[in-house]
Amino acid sequence: MKKLVVANWKMYGQPAMARQLAAAVVQQAAQTSAASVVMCPPAILVADIAKSLDNQMVAVGGQDCHADAEGAHTGDISAVMLKDAGCSHVIVGHSERRTNHGETSAQVNAKAARAIVSGLIPIICIGETLAEREKGEAEAVVGAQLRQSIPDSAAQGNFVLAYEPVWAIGSGKTPTTDDIRQMHRYIVSVASERTGVAPAAVAVLYGGSVKAANAKDIMATEAVAGVLVGGASLKADEFCSIIAAA
Ligand code: PEP
Repeated sequence: MKKLVVANWKMYGQPAMARQLAAAVVQQAAQTSAASVVMCPPAILVADIAKSLDNQMVAVGGQDCHADAEGAHTGDISAVMLKDAGCSHVIVGHSERRTNHGETSAQVNAKAARAIVSGLIPIICIGETLAEREKGEAEAVVGAQLRQSIPDSAAQGNFVLAYEPVWAIGSGKTPTTDDIRQMHRYIVSVASERTGVAPAAVAVLYGGSVKAANAKDIMATEAVAGVLVGGASLKADEFCSIIAAA
């Protein structure tokens, strides 16, 4: 199966830099048949990036969407708007949304369901904090997030999961590949039980301080379907090396 490499630009990027970065990524993706690449720029850049790509080598995704189809939700963006702008994917439940915007797993579930019904593939993020890991609660926390965040409409091929330990995001720290393997196996088993999708068909990305230097080992780890990359996705050389590592 092709590895999925997803770039989360967060709230970074101006149009010129974004087009340059997208062009470099397209060039790399064209040489790496073992990877599918999705770039998730800030919402205001989505249409521009999608237009500048204008081919099938690299897909575009949103970083969040509202759970409603439309409505009086100032500042929000709908799944259909993302779809119309050229997106195929949308990240939901990122820990920065859960923490900074108080998003619950029930809300993440509703957003993922809206994404699916709108023709987008939600990338549903889950992950434990350092305190939870140190208390030995990592699996319990992630398991509960999974059961509550995966919508009933999730079926084979229409959703992706991303395991992002909160303490690894932007910190330069990563779990060992043994820890990643163990957690990904657990996630696959819970998600399979929740959705009825066969374990081999449950795609779980790893995210949290992925960079060129560790991408190969992480992507070679059992049950890792690809990576979700934050900071390193904004540097063309670094992100292209991660794609090449696939
Ligand atoms: C992220 O924000 O999804 C992420 C994984 O960030 P970073 O790669 O910078 O840790």
